[in-house]
Amino acid sequence: MSGEVSEDFTYYFANSEQVPSAVGAGVLVDTDHSILAAGGFIIQMMPGADDETTTALEQRLSTIAPISTMVREGKTPEEILEALIGDELQILDSIPVQFKCHCSRERVEIAISSLGDEEIQRMIDEDKGAEAKCHFCNEAYNFNEHDLKELQSNPS
Ligand SMILES: [Zn+2]
Repeated sequence: MSGEVSEDFTYYFANSEQVPSAVGAGVLVDTDHSILAAGGFIIQMMPGADDETTTALEQRLSTIAPISTMVREGKTPEEILEALIGDELQILDSIPVQFKCHCSRERVEIAISSLGDEEIQRMIDEDKGAEAKCHFCNEAYNFNEHDLKELQSNPS
């Protein structure tokens, strides 16, 4: 929509997922263009949340320091949450974050199979193989002619 990450996410949540959300994202860039601090948050309203809550939250968000500043100051996620939500904050659960992708060779095989025998034959004849790269984690999966033949339902 706007190219501004926070605004685009807010628009997406409101229009595609129909969930009123407040999104903040920011990066502090040093004079040598290196990243000093970067961070973000997404706050989503629970079903049935009243307008009063929304208004109070909006007011609060308009007064807090930019998220990148809070990260730069070394604030923990819990401290940032408290700044965003206030004293009523209750932490119900914490989940460690990790970089993980659910892609696998098996999933890529299923995707290639779904292209159909003719298309797979074309990859065998013209390209002598195929490489599929995951759009999320960039993992490359390579298939030689033999691998591709195995993925055809009626190998010719
Ligand atoms: Zn992946």
